[in-house]
Amino acid sequence: MPVIRVALDLPLPQPFDYLADDATPDDVGHRVLVPFGPGDKGRKLGIVVALADTTDQPAEKLRPALEILRDMPPLPATWRELCAFCARYYQHPLGAVMALALPPLLRKGRLPRRRPKAPAPAPAGAIPELLPEQAAAVAAIGEGRGFRTYLLHGITGSGKTEVYLRAIAQVLQGGGQALMLVPEIALTPQLIGRVSARFPDAHVVTAHSGIPEAARGWGFLDALEGRADIVLGTRLAVFMPLPRLRLIVVDEEHDPSFKQQEGLRYSARDVAVVRAKQLDIPIVLGSATPSLESFHHAAGGRYRLLELQRRAVAERLPAVATVDTRRKKLRDGLSEALIDALADTLARGEQSLVFLNRRGYAPVLACPACGWISRCRRCAANLVVHLADRRLRCHHCGLEAPIPRHCPDCGNQDIQPFGRGTQRLESFLADRFPEARILRIDRDSASTPGRWQALLDTIHEGGADILVGTQMLAKGHDFPRLTLVGVVGADAALFAADFRAPERLFSQLMQVGGRSGRAALPGRVLIQTEYPDHPLYRALAGHDYGGFARGQLEERRAAGFPPFSHQCLLRAEARDMAQALAFLAEARRAGEGLAGEAVGLYDPVPMRLARLMNLERAQLLVESASRPALQAFLAGWSASLHARKAPAGLRWHLDVDPQEL
Ligand code: ADP
Ligand code: ZN
Ligand code: ZN
Repeated sequence: MPVIRVALDLPLPQPFDYLADDATPDDVGHRVLVPFGPGDKGRKLGIVVALADTTDQPAEKLRPALEILRDMPPLPATWRELCAFCARYYQHPLGAVMALALPPLLRKGRLPRRRPKAPAPAPAGAIPELLPEQAAAVAAIGEGRGFRTYLLHGITGSGKTEVYLRAIAQVLQGGGQALMLVPEIALTPQLIGRVSARFPDAHVVTAHSGIPEAARGWGFLDALEGRADIVLGTRLAVFMPLPRLRLIVVDEEHDPSFKQQEGLRYSARDVAVVRAKQLDIPIVLGSATPSLESFHHAAGGRYRLLELQRRAVAERLPAVATVDTRRKKLRDGLSEALIDALADTLARGEQSLVFLNRRGYAPVLACPACGWISRCRRCAANLVVHLADRRLRCHHCGLEAPIPRHCPDCGNQDIQPFGRGTQRLESFLADRFPEARILRIDRDSASTPGRWQALLDTIHEGGADILVGTQMLAKGHDFPRLTLVGVVGADAALFAADFRAPERLFSQLMQVGGRSGRAALPGRVLIQTEYPDHPLYRALAGHDYGGFARGQLEERRAAGFPPFSHQCLLRAEARDMAQALAFLAEARRAGEGLAGEAVGLYDPVPMRLARLMNLERAQLLVESASRPALQAFLAGWSASLHARKAPAGLRWHLDVDPQEL
């Protein structure tokens, strides 16, 4: 009787064998229901990954599968191989990878029933004549046969999206399918509308975790069965099966949201490159501020660099200047220069944006009499003051409490919020400019996609004079009347412990600055800082991404950081720190026996946020100049970690290519 090997969503790396008398080789890739657990009570859905004649399982343990679900085409070999790659590379069980890659409905063994109504086709948009650099980029992408990674580098508004659309048009013309990945926050109705308007006859599927189950199920089936022409989605969409896939685009490829921070800790950008290589097709990575990894590959010739040097519409770049705050008196954190600029902009009837990447009213509430501060009792973090609804909130675990009327320790009634967040800035600006319409945009005010869209609509209808917001405001939106961007509170990132902090700051400021002066009106950016001569700000003022990136890469080379080394973190969470550290110390001893010359293991240390939700957290860094050496080490090490039983209450995971240290 034939045996099927089934990948199940369990924290165990190996597939499970079942008897299936009706199985044929064509069943590989089908979903299958199998009994699981003691007795025959439990059942689970898995995917047939192989057919076998023999098994190591003792005959009495081998149980028959319940049902092979042949109600949709089998998941193709390329899809299974991509999942298998992720399982190997990220040290994650294959069944868990496949479960993540399937939409929830199919994962539960069902198929979507009624097809949701398709949105009305968008009116076809005008197609602009390409500028010479755009035309060269489109031609380069089109001429390629086979796998090639293109890095499309161009500031916001330089016409990258136009290049993607043309490259996609070429692929559709040849009967192929295209996949376009964008960061979560960039997948707006605006973008979907722009893509559908350009391809009125194409079947465009959007894919992200917020889409209702039935629609997601249909999207997946349309992709798998070849009906979809374009899949536009967030990182999860990298796993959409597309039998005629001929082009992948990753927009804002530097965006941290492409890296999943839980479960399968994959980078959708990196997996997309692997997929393009597997299928031998071109992939375009686009950004105004490419990740240093990608920029390094382009400099070394592994990626082909395509540059768009100027804006497609507004011809001038915003003027970027720093405001030295060392000797100036600030009013609620704002300098005279910035307040004057806001007043001027308001008087001209134009829009301003003040960027502060910290939401809430103030980062902490404190008692000046006894030194009490508002701390989260579950995390090693402060509770943030939210004055809008008079709550204290932990931004890490969500714990909430009312704002106390007096100090819980000494009874002092004069307790004060310290520092400043977007709400405080908003209320100061409302006092200072009572005639202005002020709109705050952060995760609190834009807590749902609907509210976020409503805020965007207000901005577009000219319903706001001054925007106050976090990085939510930085991404991919056209604000035609926005001419002034003020940046406050950015200095902290210059000296942060995470070596990627300057890269993130540069890219955020570049993006937020790029919001200004996108139409006919010239824009300007004022950055308040105590370090006006810092190379990062100077590079920003000179619109010199290349200079900044080269400087950073030099520092990373000297320090041996990525992309000059490859990293993996082993993290452990436990009730107490000693237990977490002891587990890591033992893992380290086990690892040292396996690591050759090329792989280094560091000492276990508490994480920067050392306690989260009452769990103490520690980590151990593994590093190697050689990716294959690191991969070989991780395979053996993770097997040895799985083999030993972790102490009760302790959880661990590996994070390959971690983005946050
Ligand atoms: P990016 O993706 O780099 O931010 P877009 O492709 O969105 O840039 O282009 C910015 C703006 O310029 C859009 O409004 C777009 O329609 C317009 N645009 C792009 N390319 C051209 C072109 N060749 N001629 C005229 N307008 C263009
Ligand atoms: Zn007190
Ligand atoms: Zn907390």
